[in-house]
Amino acid sequence: MKILQIERLKKYFPIKAGVFLQVVGHVKAMEDVNFGISKGETIGVVGESGCGKSTLGRTIVKIYEPTAGNISYFDESGREHDISKGLHRSVRPLFRRDVQMIFQNPFDSLDPRMTVRDIIREPIEAHNLVPSSEMDGYVSELLMKVGLYPEYAQRYPHEFSGGQRQRIAIARSISVNPRLIICDEPTSALDVSVQSQIINLLQELREENHISYIFISHNLDVVHHMSDRILVMYLGNVVEASSATELFDNPSHPYTKALMASIPNWSPENRKLQDVRLEGEPPSPINPPPGCPFHPRCPYRLEICDKQKPVSRALSEDHSVACWLYDR
Ligand code: SF4
Repeated sequence: MKILQIERLKKYFPIKAGVFLQVVGHVKAMEDVNFGISKGETIGVVGESGCGKSTLGRTIVKIYEPTAGNISYFDESGREHDISKGLHRSVRPLFRRDVQMIFQNPFDSLDPRMTVRDIIREPIEAHNLVPSSEMDGYVSELLMKVGLYPEYAQRYPHEFSGGQRQRIAIARSISVNPRLIICDEPTSALDVSVQSQIINLLQELREENHISYIFISHNLDVVHHMSDRILVMYLGNVVEASSATELFDNPSHPYTKALMASIPNWSPENRKLQDVRLEGEPPSPINPPPGCPFHPRCPYRLEICDKQKPVSRALSEDHSVACWLYDR
């Protein structure tokens, strides 16, 4: 069952300057992103910093309003709601319950003045899910589910380590039984030893509760481990989209190959990719290059690449994206 369908989603941020704060340009953070996600599916989103992957997550949960494009949300009964232009009163509670987000930095995402109990209780109360007489028991259950002691409910966020705080954030997000969680770099602020614990926890919750994830990360290994399908983003564009196995076994876009080559892995397959190296910095999203956005850094570029965008099959059945020059 489908949960979200995203079509031609764009997000531009205005740049304002001068005394009257006139708009003098735009940061083109996201261009024409297309994909759908169904129940129990995990979609990984990878790319360098600034490629638009966090903007994508924040636009889906309506922290940002899209500049153009469509976001369709399907409720549990399969009814489609167009939420591109905002959340209508009738859809807001459903959507806010169904779609949750876990942020990168658990040090910022938890209110330091609230106890763990209140942090977890807040969304449950907002959605009127559990009678107040059963609330403490429910919070304890959630804490145990994410590997914390029920006694921690009385404490404040500053009393916990980064990994424990991320567990609290996860407990809060699953407290309303969501169908989709957007995880925006959920492990990048944590120690390596804690990262795998959080990944395992997210996987266990997926298996237990059939939650779908949009898993945003720059860590290819983690995304490979977690995802059914992967979108590779570059300068706000999805340059390649395919199943995790296909993407890792047979990357086709030169940028994907360069990302793969950057994984420290000395398998013969990986060594074959070593000739595709990323040089230079990504161009500015304020003034992206014409034609293929990757052409200034692409070792395979041809003359036509700076004039014409690659052919996109972005709206085809499998939502894959293709460049006519990849297979070289
Ligand atoms: Fe490289 Fe040209 Fe393909 Fe872009 S269109 S990825 S520049 S070969």
